[in-house]
Amino acid sequence: MQIPVERLVDRFLRYVQMDTQSREGVAEYPSTEGQRQFLQMLARELEELGLKEVELDQHFYLTATLPSNLQTQVPVIGFIAHVDTSPEVSGAGVKPIIHRHYDGQRIQLPGDPSVVLSPETDPELANCIGQDIITSDGTTLLGADDKAGIAEILTAMEYLLSHPEIPHGTIRLAFTPDEEVGRGTDFFDVGRFGAHYAYTVDGGAAGEVENETFCADTMTVRFHGVNVHPGYAKGKMVNAIKLAARLVDKLPKASMSPETTDGREGYVHPHAIEGGVELAEVRLLIRDFEVEGLKEKERYLSRLAARIARQVPGSRVEIQIKESYRNMRYKLEEEPRVVDFAVEAIRRAGLEPKLTSIRGGTDGARLCYQGLLTPNLFTGGHNFHSRREWISVQDMARAVTTLVHLVQIWAEKGPIR
Ligand SMILES: [Zn+2]
Repeated sequence: MQIPVERLVDRFLRYVQMDTQSREGVAEYPSTEGQRQFLQMLARELEELGLKEVELDQHFYLTATLPSNLQTQVPVIGFIAHVDTSPEVSGAGVKPIIHRHYDGQRIQLPGDPSVVLSPETDPELANCIGQDIITSDGTTLLGADDKAGIAEILTAMEYLLSHPEIPHGTIRLAFTPDEEVGRGTDFFDVGRFGAHYAYTVDGGAAGEVENETFCADTMTVRFHGVNVHPGYAKGKMVNAIKLAARLVDKLPKASMSPETTDGREGYVHPHAIEGGVELAEVRLLIRDFEVEGLKEKERYLSRLAARIARQVPGSRVEIQIKESYRNMRYKLEEEPRVVDFAVEAIRRAGLEPKLTSIRGGTDGARLCYQGLLTPNLFTGGHNFHSRREWISVQDMARAVTTLVHLVQIWAEKGPIR
Protein backbone atom coordinates (compact mmCIF):
# COMPACT_ATOMS: atom_id res chain seq x y z
CA MET A 1 0.00 0.00 0.00
CA GLN A 2 1.57 3.32 -1.12
CA ILE A 3 0.38 5.92 1.41
CA PRO A 4 0.95 9.53 0.21
CA VAL A 5 3.30 10.33 3.08
CA GLU A 6 4.04 13.94 2.03
CA ARG A 7 0.35 14.76 2.07
CA LEU A 8 -0.04 13.08 5.46
CA VAL A 9 2.85 15.07 6.90
CA ASP A 10 1.67 18.29 5.27
CA ARG A 11 -1.74 17.89 6.91
CA PHE A 12 -0.24 17.08 10.25
CA LEU A 13 2.14 20.07 10.19
CA ARG A 14 -0.65 22.45 9.22
CA TYR A 15 -2.96 21.15 11.95
CA VAL A 16 -0.45 21.35 14.80
CA GLN A 17 0.29 24.98 13.96
CA MET A 18 -3.30 25.94 14.74
CA ASP A 19 -3.85 26.59 18.43
CA THR A 20 -6.74 24.42 19.59
CA GLN A 21 -5.97 24.17 23.27
CA SER A 22 -9.11 23.53 25.32
CA ARG A 23 -9.77 25.22 28.64
CA GLU A 24 -10.95 23.82 31.95
CA GLY A 25 -14.03 25.22 33.68
CA VAL A 26 -15.56 27.07 30.72
CA ALA A 27 -19.34 26.87 30.40
CA GLU A 28 -19.28 27.60 26.67
CA TYR A 29 -18.90 24.65 24.32
CA PRO A 30 -16.41 24.24 22.71
CA SER A 31 -14.34 25.90 25.41
CA THR A 32 -12.11 27.90 23.03
CA GLU A 33 -12.40 29.85 19.78
CA GLY A 34 -9.35 28.10 18.29
CA GLN A 35 -11.22 24.81 18.22
CA ARG A 36 -14.15 26.42 16.40
CA GLN A 37 -11.89 27.85 13.72
CA PHE A 38 -10.06 24.57 13.32
CA LEU A 39 -13.30 22.62 12.94
CA GLN A 40 -14.58 25.08 10.34
CA MET A 41 -11.38 24.67 8.35
CA LEU A 42 -11.54 20.90 8.70
CA ALA A 43 -15.13 20.91 7.41
CA ARG A 44 -13.96 22.66 4.23
CA GLU A 45 -11.16 20.11 3.83
CA LEU A 46 -13.55 17.19 4.16
CA GLU A 47 -15.72 18.70 1.43
CA GLU A 48 -12.74 19.30 -0.83
CA LEU A 49 -11.69 15.68 -0.36
CA GLY A 50 -15.07 14.59 -1.68
CA LEU A 51 -16.62 13.26 1.52
CA LYS A 52 -20.42 13.39 1.79
CA GLU A 53 -22.83 14.71 4.44
CA VAL A 54 -20.21 17.05 5.89
CA GLU A 55 -21.94 18.63 8.85
CA LEU A 56 -20.81 20.95 11.61
CA ASP A 57 -23.59 20.97 14.20
CA GLN A 58 -24.45 23.60 16.82
CA HIS A 59 -22.09 21.97 19.34
CA PHE A 60 -19.29 21.99 16.78
CA TYR A 61 -19.27 18.25 16.27
CA LEU A 62 -18.03 17.73 12.75
CA THR A 63 -19.27 14.59 11.00
CA ALA A 64 -18.94 13.26 7.46
CA THR A 65 -19.54 10.12 5.42
CA LEU A 66 -17.59 8.06 2.95
CA PRO A 67 -20.34 6.08 1.20
CA SER A 68 -20.07 2.32 0.80
CA ASN A 69 -18.85 0.90 -2.50
CA LEU A 70 -20.40 -2.53 -1.86
CA GLN A 71 -23.62 -4.14 -3.06
CA THR A 72 -23.99 -6.01 0.24
CA GLN A 73 -24.73 -4.59 3.68
CA VAL A 74 -21.85 -4.51 6.15
CA PRO A 75 -21.64 -2.59 9.43
CA VAL A 76 -21.13 1.17 9.28
CA ILE A 77 -17.72 1.87 10.84
CA GLY A 78 -16.90 5.14 12.59
CA PHE A 79 -13.55 6.85 13.08
CA ILE A 80 -13.33 9.50 15.78
CA ALA A 81 -10.60 11.97 16.73
CA HIS A 82 -10.54 15.04 18.94
CA VAL A 83 -9.36 18.45 17.79
CA ASP A 84 -8.29 20.00 21.09
CA THR A 85 -4.91 19.83 22.77
CA SER A 86 -4.23 19.53 26.47
CA PRO A 87 -4.77 22.57 28.75
CA GLU A 88 -1.65 21.50 30.68
CA VAL A 89 0.91 22.73 28.13
CA SER A 90 0.73 25.58 25.63
CA GLY A 91 -0.32 24.71 22.11
CA ALA A 92 0.06 28.25 20.75
CA GLY A 93 2.68 28.95 18.12
CA VAL A 94 3.76 25.34 17.73
CA LYS A 95 6.87 25.17 15.54
CA PRO A 96 7.13 21.57 14.40
CA ILE A 97 10.54 20.22 13.46
CA ILE A 98 11.17 17.14 11.31
CA HIS A 99 14.34 15.30 12.30
CA ARG A 100 14.96 13.28 9.14
CA HIS A 101 16.68 9.88 9.26
CA TYR A 102 16.93 9.84 13.03
CA ASP A 103 20.42 8.62 14.00
CA GLY A 104 19.72 7.24 17.47
CA GLN A 105 21.39 10.16 19.30
CA ARG A 106 19.95 12.67 21.76
CA ILE A 107 17.63 15.25 20.25
CA GLN A 108 17.98 18.65 21.90
CA LEU A 109 15.11 20.95 21.07
CA PRO A 110 16.29 24.39 19.93
CA GLY A 111 13.55 26.48 21.57
CA ASP A 112 14.51 25.21 25.04
CA PRO A 113 17.79 23.28 25.27
CA SER A 114 16.67 21.75 28.57
CA VAL A 115 14.11 19.73 26.63
CA VAL A 116 15.94 16.64 25.42
CA LEU A 117 14.75 13.39 23.91
CA SER A 118 17.01 10.41 24.17
CA PRO A 119 16.71 6.65 23.76
CA GLU A 120 17.62 6.29 27.46
CA THR A 121 14.53 8.12 28.67
CA ASP A 122 12.41 7.18 25.64
CA PRO A 123 13.29 3.57 24.79
CA GLU A 124 10.81 3.66 21.89
CA LEU A 125 13.06 6.15 20.10
CA ALA A 126 15.60 3.36 19.70
CA ASN A 127 13.07 1.53 17.50
CA CYS A 128 12.84 4.56 15.22
CA ILE A 129 16.42 4.82 13.97
CA GLY A 130 16.36 5.76 10.30
CA GLN A 131 12.83 7.14 10.58
CA ASP A 132 11.69 10.75 10.48
CA ILE A 133 10.80 12.08 13.92
CA ILE A 134 8.61 15.13 14.42
CA THR A 135 8.85 17.22 17.60
CA SER A 136 7.97 20.76 18.63
CA ASP A 137 10.79 23.26 19.17
CA GLY A 138 10.60 22.50 22.89
CA THR A 139 8.57 25.54 23.95
CA THR A 140 5.12 23.98 23.38
CA LEU A 141 3.59 20.56 23.09
CA LEU A 142 3.46 19.11 19.58
CA GLY A 143 -0.22 18.23 19.41
CA ALA A 144 0.15 14.77 17.89
CA ASP A 145 -2.54 14.09 20.49
CA ASP A 146 -4.74 14.10 18.55
CA LYS A 147 -3.90 15.91 15.33
CA ALA A 148 -2.00 12.83 14.23
CA GLY A 149 -5.30 10.94 14.49
CA ILE A 150 -7.07 13.58 12.39
CA ALA A 151 -4.35 13.65 9.70
CA GLU A 152 -4.31 9.84 9.59
CA ILE A 153 -8.08 9.52 9.23
CA LEU A 154 -8.21 12.12 6.42
CA THR A 155 -5.31 10.51 4.61
CA ALA A 156 -6.96 7.09 4.87
CA MET A 157 -10.19 8.53 3.42
CA GLU A 158 -8.26 10.20 0.61
CA TYR A 159 -6.56 6.89 -0.13
CA LEU A 160 -9.88 5.03 -0.26
CA LEU A 161 -11.38 7.72 -2.52
CA SER A 162 -8.50 7.36 -4.96
CA HIS A 163 -8.62 3.53 -4.81
CA PRO A 164 -12.25 2.62 -5.46
CA GLU A 165 -11.17 -0.99 -6.05
CA ILE A 166 -10.70 -1.40 -2.27
CA PRO A 167 -14.00 -2.69 -0.88
CA HIS A 168 -15.46 -0.89 2.13
CA GLY A 169 -18.84 -0.27 3.72
CA THR A 170 -20.14 3.12 4.81
CA ILE A 171 -17.60 4.99 6.92
CA ARG A 172 -18.63 7.74 9.31
CA LEU A 173 -16.19 10.30 10.67
CA ALA A 174 -16.52 12.47 13.76
CA PHE A 175 -14.19 15.20 14.98
CA THR A 176 -15.00 16.40 18.47
CA PRO A 177 -13.93 19.29 20.72
CA ASP A 178 -12.97 19.42 24.40
CA GLU A 179 -11.85 15.83 24.92
CA GLU A 180 -8.93 16.89 27.09
CA VAL A 181 -11.23 18.61 29.57
CA GLY A 182 -13.39 15.49 29.83
CA ARG A 183 -16.29 16.85 27.78
CA GLY A 184 -15.61 15.26 24.39
CA THR A 185 -18.84 13.28 24.29
CA ASP A 186 -21.13 15.64 26.21
CA PHE A 187 -23.31 16.25 23.15
CA PHE A 188 -22.34 13.25 21.04
CA ASP A 189 -25.48 11.76 19.55
CA VAL A 190 -24.71 8.08 19.00
CA GLY A 191 -27.97 7.46 17.13
CA ARG A 192 -27.46 10.35 14.76
CA PHE A 193 -23.85 9.35 14.13
CA GLY A 194 -25.24 6.07 12.86
CA ALA A 195 -22.17 3.83 13.08
CA HIS A 196 -22.51 0.21 14.20
CA TYR A 197 -19.00 0.24 15.67
CA ALA A 198 -16.33 2.89 15.95
CA TYR A 199 -12.69 3.49 16.74
CA THR A 200 -11.10 6.52 18.32
CA VAL A 201 -7.74 7.16 16.65
CA ASP A 202 -6.13 8.70 19.70
CA GLY A 203 -3.66 6.14 21.08
CA GLY A 204 0.09 5.93 21.44
CA ALA A 205 2.79 3.59 20.16
CA ALA A 206 2.45 1.88 16.78
CA GLY A 207 0.56 -1.41 16.99
CA GLU A 208 -1.41 -0.65 20.14
CA VAL A 209 -5.13 -1.13 20.59
CA GLU A 210 -6.51 0.09 23.88
CA ASN A 211 -9.45 -2.08 24.84
CA GLU A 212 -9.54 -1.52 28.61
CA THR A 213 -10.04 1.42 30.90
CA PHE A 214 -10.32 1.67 34.64
CA CYS A 215 -13.57 1.13 36.47
CA ALA A 216 -14.00 4.33 38.42
CA ASP A 217 -16.12 5.54 41.33
CA THR A 218 -15.90 8.55 43.56
CA MET A 219 -16.42 8.18 47.29
CA THR A 220 -17.24 10.88 49.81
CA VAL A 221 -16.63 10.10 53.46
CA ARG A 222 -18.35 12.67 55.65
CA PHE A 223 -17.51 12.77 59.37
CA HIS A 224 -19.89 14.58 61.70
CA GLY A 225 -18.43 15.97 64.93
CA VAL A 226 -19.75 18.12 67.73
CA ASN A 227 -18.74 21.77 67.96
CA VAL A 228 -18.76 23.72 71.22
CA HIS A 229 -16.81 26.74 72.46
CA PRO A 230 -13.23 25.49 72.65
CA GLY A 231 -12.79 27.07 76.08
CA TYR A 232 -15.52 24.86 77.49
CA ALA A 233 -15.18 21.82 75.26
CA LYS A 234 -13.80 19.27 77.69
CA GLY A 235 -15.63 16.00 77.29
CA LYS A 236 -18.00 17.53 74.76
CA MET A 237 -16.20 18.50 71.57
CA VAL A 238 -15.77 15.96 68.79
CA ASN A 239 -13.51 17.38 66.07
CA ALA A 240 -14.45 16.09 62.64
CA ILE A 241 -11.18 17.40 61.16
CA LYS A 242 -9.27 14.96 63.32
CA LEU A 243 -11.45 12.06 62.22
CA ALA A 244 -10.87 12.91 58.57
CA ALA A 245 -7.13 13.18 59.18
CA ARG A 246 -7.16 9.81 60.90
CA LEU A 247 -8.81 8.20 57.87
CA VAL A 248 -6.18 9.58 55.52
CA ASP A 249 -3.41 8.53 57.88
CA LYS A 250 -4.73 4.95 58.05
CA LEU A 251 -4.57 4.46 54.27
CA PRO A 252 -1.89 1.99 53.17
CA LYS A 253 1.45 3.76 52.69
CA ALA A 254 3.18 1.33 50.35
CA SER A 255 0.32 0.22 48.14
CA MET A 256 -3.09 1.10 46.73
CA SER A 257 -2.23 4.72 45.89
CA PRO A 258 -1.54 6.45 42.55
CA GLU A 259 2.05 7.03 43.62
CA THR A 260 2.72 3.37 44.42
CA THR A 261 0.87 1.51 41.64
CA ASP A 262 1.04 0.98 37.91
CA GLY A 263 0.08 -1.57 35.27
CA ARG A 264 -3.12 -3.34 36.23
CA GLU A 265 -3.18 -2.33 39.90
CA GLY A 266 -5.97 -0.14 41.19
CA TYR A 267 -5.86 2.49 43.90
CA VAL A 268 -7.77 4.71 46.31
CA HIS A 269 -6.84 8.36 46.05
CA PRO A 270 -7.93 11.05 48.51
CA HIS A 271 -7.92 14.11 46.25
CA ALA A 272 -9.80 16.66 48.32
CA ILE A 273 -10.43 17.28 51.98
CA GLU A 274 -12.64 20.01 53.27
CA GLY A 275 -14.45 20.93 56.44
CA GLY A 276 -14.44 22.13 60.01
CA VAL A 277 -14.99 20.87 63.53
CA GLU A 278 -18.65 20.11 62.93
CA LEU A 279 -18.32 18.42 59.56
CA ALA A 280 -15.33 17.28 57.53
CA GLU A 281 -15.33 15.36 54.31
CA VAL A 282 -12.71 13.42 52.42
CA ARG A 283 -13.30 12.87 48.73
CA LEU A 284 -11.63 9.87 47.15
CA LEU A 285 -11.21 8.48 43.67
CA ILE A 286 -11.50 4.71 43.57
CA ARG A 287 -9.93 2.91 40.59
CA ASP A 288 -9.57 -0.72 39.52
CA PHE A 289 -9.74 -2.66 36.27
CA GLU A 290 -12.43 -4.96 37.65
CA VAL A 291 -15.72 -4.04 39.33
CA GLU A 292 -14.99 -6.66 42.00
CA GLY A 293 -11.70 -4.93 42.85
CA LEU A 294 -13.46 -1.59 42.98
CA LYS A 295 -16.12 -2.91 45.38
CA GLU A 296 -13.45 -4.51 47.56
CA LYS A 297 -11.65 -1.18 47.94
CA GLU A 298 -14.92 0.56 48.77
CA ARG A 299 -15.78 -2.05 51.40
CA TYR A 300 -12.33 -1.65 52.91
CA LEU A 301 -12.70 2.15 53.13
CA SER A 302 -16.23 1.95 54.52
CA ARG A 303 -15.10 -0.41 57.27
CA LEU A 304 -12.12 1.80 58.06
CA ALA A 305 -14.30 4.93 58.30
CA ALA A 306 -16.91 3.15 60.41
CA ARG A 307 -14.23 1.89 62.81
CA ILE A 308 -12.82 5.41 63.23
CA ALA A 309 -16.27 6.84 63.99
CA ARG A 310 -17.00 3.99 66.43
CA GLN A 311 -13.83 4.75 68.38
CA VAL A 312 -14.96 8.34 69.00
CA PRO A 313 -18.29 8.58 70.85
CA GLY A 314 -20.54 11.33 69.58
CA SER A 315 -19.22 11.18 66.04
CA ARG A 316 -20.93 9.75 63.03
CA VAL A 317 -19.88 8.94 59.49
CA GLU A 318 -21.79 8.99 56.22
CA ILE A 319 -20.53 7.45 53.02
CA GLN A 320 -21.58 8.23 49.52
CA ILE A 321 -20.40 6.35 46.44
CA LYS A 322 -20.99 7.57 42.92
CA GLU A 323 -20.24 5.64 39.77
CA SER A 324 -17.99 7.52 37.33
CA TYR A 325 -17.35 5.00 34.53
CA ARG A 326 -16.66 1.33 33.89
CA ASN A 327 -14.00 -0.66 32.05
CA MET A 328 -14.93 -0.62 28.37
CA ARG A 329 -13.73 -4.22 28.02
CA TYR A 330 -17.00 -5.41 29.62
CA LYS A 331 -18.84 -3.86 26.67
CA LEU A 332 -16.30 -4.73 23.98
CA GLU A 333 -16.58 -8.40 24.94
CA GLU A 334 -20.18 -8.29 23.69
CA GLU A 335 -18.85 -8.06 20.11
CA PRO A 336 -15.32 -9.49 19.93
CA ARG A 337 -15.02 -8.71 16.20
CA VAL A 338 -14.51 -5.01 16.98
CA VAL A 339 -11.15 -5.58 18.68
CA ASP A 340 -10.29 -8.76 16.70
CA PHE A 341 -10.55 -6.97 13.36
CA ALA A 342 -8.42 -4.09 14.64
CA VAL A 343 -5.78 -6.60 15.71
CA GLU A 344 -5.88 -8.23 12.30
CA ALA A 345 -5.63 -4.85 10.52
CA ILE A 346 -2.53 -4.01 12.55
CA ARG A 347 -1.00 -7.35 11.63
CA ARG A 348 -1.75 -6.74 7.93
CA ALA A 349 -0.03 -3.36 8.29
CA GLY A 350 3.11 -5.29 9.26
CA LEU A 351 3.06 -4.48 12.97
CA GLU A 352 2.91 -6.60 16.10
CA PRO A 353 -0.50 -5.89 17.69
CA LYS A 354 -0.57 -5.17 21.38
CA LEU A 355 -3.69 -4.90 23.53
CA THR A 356 -3.22 -2.35 26.26
CA SER A 357 -5.22 -0.81 29.05
CA ILE A 358 -5.60 2.83 29.97
CA ARG A 359 -5.20 3.92 33.57
CA GLY A 360 -8.03 6.37 33.13
CA GLY A 361 -11.20 6.81 31.12
CA THR A 362 -11.65 7.71 27.47
CA ASP A 363 -14.30 9.14 25.23
CA GLY A 364 -14.44 5.69 23.66
CA ALA A 365 -15.27 4.11 27.01
CA ARG A 366 -18.12 6.54 27.47
CA LEU A 367 -19.39 5.77 23.97
CA CYS A 368 -19.19 2.03 24.67
CA TYR A 369 -21.67 2.55 27.49
CA GLN A 370 -23.87 4.72 25.26
CA GLY A 371 -24.18 1.77 22.90
CA LEU A 372 -21.35 2.47 20.43
CA LEU A 373 -18.46 0.05 20.92
CA THR A 374 -15.31 2.16 20.49
CA PRO A 375 -11.81 0.87 21.28
CA ASN A 376 -8.84 3.17 20.78
CA LEU A 377 -6.30 2.74 17.96
CA PHE A 378 -2.71 3.94 17.96
CA THR A 379 -1.64 7.16 16.23
CA GLY A 380 2.11 6.57 16.70
CA GLY A 381 2.53 9.49 19.13
CA HIS A 382 4.54 9.52 22.37
CA ASN A 383 4.83 11.69 25.51
CA PHE A 384 1.41 13.26 25.11
CA HIS A 385 0.65 16.48 27.03
CA SER A 386 4.28 17.47 27.21
CA ARG A 387 6.92 19.52 25.45
CA ARG A 388 8.71 16.24 24.77
CA GLU A 389 5.89 14.94 22.60
CA TRP A 390 7.11 13.22 19.41
CA ILE A 391 5.88 11.05 16.58
CA SER A 392 7.48 9.10 13.75
CA VAL A 393 6.30 9.82 10.22
CA GLN A 394 6.63 6.15 9.31
CA ASP A 395 4.43 5.14 12.27
CA MET A 396 1.84 7.68 11.15
CA ALA A 397 1.86 6.07 7.71
CA ARG A 398 1.37 2.66 9.35
CA ALA A 399 -1.62 4.05 11.23
CA VAL A 400 -3.14 5.10 7.90
CA THR A 401 -2.46 1.64 6.45
CA THR A 402 -4.12 0.08 9.49
CA LEU A 403 -7.30 2.14 8.98
CA VAL A 404 -7.49 1.15 5.31
CA HIS A 405 -7.02 -2.54 6.18
CA LEU A 406 -9.58 -2.27 8.95
CA VAL A 407 -12.44 -1.10 6.74
CA GLN A 408 -11.46 -3.74 4.21
CA ILE A 409 -11.63 -6.48 6.85
CA TRP A 410 -15.10 -5.32 7.89
CA ALA A 411 -16.11 -5.44 4.22
CA GLU A 412 -14.67 -8.95 3.79
CA LYS A 413 -16.05 -10.64 6.86
CA GLY A 414 -18.34 -8.40 8.77
CA PRO A 415 -22.00 -9.08 8.04
CA ILE A 416 -24.36 -7.02 10.21
CA ARG A 417 -25.43 -8.92 13.32
ZN1 LIG B 1 -6.00 12.43 22.91
